[in-house]
Amino acid sequence: MAQGLFDLKGRRILITGSSRGIGFALARGLGQAGGSIILNGRDPKALGEAARTLAAEGIDVAEAGFDVTDPHALDAAVEELETRLGPIEVLVNNAGINRRFPATEVTPETFREVQAVNVEAVFFMAQACARRMLKRGHGKIVNIASVQSELGRATITPYAASKGAVRTMTRSLCAEWAKGGVQVNAIAPGYFATELTKVLVEDEAFTDWLCKRVPAGRWGKVEELVGAAVFLSSAASDFVNGHLLYVDGGMTAVV
Ligand code: NDP
Repeated sequence: MAQGLFDLKGRRILITGSSRGIGFALARGLGQAGGSIILNGRDPKALGEAARTLAAEGIDVAEAGFDVTDPHALDAAVEELETRLGPIEVLVNNAGINRRFPATEVTPETFREVQAVNVEAVFFMAQACARRMLKRGHGKIVNIASVQSELGRATITPYAASKGAVRTMTRSLCAEWAKGGVQVNAIAPGYFATELTKVLVEDEAFTDWLCKRVPAGRWGKVEELVGAAVFLSSAASDFVNGHLLYVDGGMTAVV
């Protein structure tokens, strides 16, 4: 009965922001589970290197180098990909940025820059893919949220606001698309060492604080997000919808 539930063979999976960090780890893990991977990012060199690494590991991989912040271009980008490669069965909305400033110093430009990647692009990528998924009657969308979808933290208000929006966007899209066979779920990572969190990794006092704050007592490893992504991309989660799955070592469970 359980055999094949997590098998991604034959599923084409587009992961935004997958040239490095969490997106790349998810690409590798979903590829190892049998998925055909489409990598995305803005830097062609980084994208090419990431694609070569996965191809050398035997993963079926293609590149899609575009900036997710031009909402008018996303529908055409998805159309081009589906024409070139075939239907996209799973979208992982992973690309995200953070800008750290005291709230009194955040400019309108900075605030909008964060929302453009973390909120607008998540919505318009989902829209572009779902238009096609709904016609086919099936598809899965996995949004990468954050513990900051739930918890506040000083100096990252634009980011926290954006991740809160991802959480409620996930639920609203579920309400609208569930009957059409499209599921929309989210993963909320805790703290993982990547380019995005480099300043925190380099701050010993932060790591001391984090290890006390997180029940697991440590930073997460990016590979530890793969299980949740495989689950939400596979038949194993066919009746799971509008859900936010924390992968945070217990951080949001305790005060
Ligand atoms: P990284 O900065 O390491 O990677 C971000 C990726 O997104 C890169 O591949 C980058 O490539 C790409 N990207 C950024 N902007 C754009 C854009 N406009 N268009 C296309 N691609 C873009 O970040 P993480 O791996 O840490 O984060 C990935 C996701 O996980 C984000 O949504 C983040 O908010 C979330 N997250 C991360 C946590 C952590 O602890 N690291 C915790 C909770 C959530 P390029 O710049 O070349 O385009």
